[in-house]
Amino acid sequence: MKSFQTERWIVDKSEQSLIDHPQVIQASLWIKQDEVVALPTETVYGLAGNAGSDYAIARIFEAKGRPSDNPLIVHISDRKQLEGLVSSIPKSAEDLMNKFWPGPLTIVLPKGTKVSEKVTAGLSTVAVRMPNHPVALAVIEASGVPLAAPSANLSGKPSPTTANHVYEDLKGRIPGIVDGGSTGVGVESTVVECTDNGEITILRPGGVTFEELENVVGLGKVMVDPGIDDEKLAPRSPGVKYTHYAPNAPFVLVDGSPEFLQQLVDKERAAGRRVGILTTEERIGLYRADSVIPSGVRSNPETVAQHLYEALRSFNEANVDQIFGEVFPKTGVGAAIMNRLEKSAGGNVIKE
Ligand code: AMP
Ligand code: MG
Repeated sequence: MKSFQTERWIVDKSEQSLIDHPQVIQASLWIKQDEVVALPTETVYGLAGNAGSDYAIARIFEAKGRPSDNPLIVHISDRKQLEGLVSSIPKSAEDLMNKFWPGPLTIVLPKGTKVSEKVTAGLSTVAVRMPNHPVALAVIEASGVPLAAPSANLSGKPSPTTANHVYEDLKGRIPGIVDGGSTGVGVESTVVECTDNGEITILRPGGVTFEELENVVGLGKVMVDPGIDDEKLAPRSPGVKYTHYAPNAPFVLVDGSPEFLQQLVDKERAAGRRVGILTTEERIGLYRADSVIPSGVRSNPETVAQHLYEALRSFNEANVDQIFGEVFPKTGVGAAIMNRLEKSAGGNVIKE
């Protein structure tokens, strides 16, 4: 593995003409040399490299320790960059781009000639999105090429929502991190595939909700890949099958009342184990444990998504032996929240 003195390049996202910002140029110079750098997007921090370079893509997989059969999302700053990246664009995909780009929606399209085989893990399709973050857009533009960018964490760990999280995981493995502050959405993009008949299928739930997609595509025209939740089916998005977002201690979801959850905690603590609880601001006062960590406000699910990975990471510092977490309704962004929590818990749910 190559080693680096990982630099931190601070960029204030509200500044004008970011494309001329010295730190943005610094990051783009590394990308032009086929190296990889971390950058903020509106979802989570990404680890970015030239999507047309086999070497850069190999570096992304190496730095993250990512399984090579898990394809990457390619990020663009301008729709002109779709040329060569994809071979065709169905009408339904164009409607989605018009409505949701720049934003947390990734569209799977037939692959073009200018994309490394390593990006798509040998698939005939490529996943593309335009991020809604001025710093990400500036780095892509300054680099002059589409950038492949998975989340900038070690494979299997919770995704990074601050530059510090990236540093914890990738220190010494990459030349630098563009630090643009905390990300906004907090969970990754929604991945969709379009069919010719105007229907779309969600391959991974994320920042754009089922309901928002249905408003654009039409009632009854949004499907959800059954492989996302059914262990026995192969998901159409290869990454969905991997364990993800896991804190160091075993994590179990509890589908029941706070009283029931507390009983589980008490039992563990009586056996001498340190226990953490993942909850929300409203419920902190209901629990007694060694570490009670809220992820946002339950009545505002967007805030739960925003703080989810940070909360999961903070159990590592709390040195707990076991974590119990609350569940959320699977509507709106709740579908993405529960998808990440279920992955994080390796599917372990205790029902009251
Ligand atoms: P990450 O960048 O870590 O958020 O993960 C990217 C997600 O997009 C993974 O679940 C991938 O499997 C998925 N993905 C990337 N390219 C494709 C593709 N061509 N077809 C289906 N899913 C894809
Ligand atoms: Mg990831």
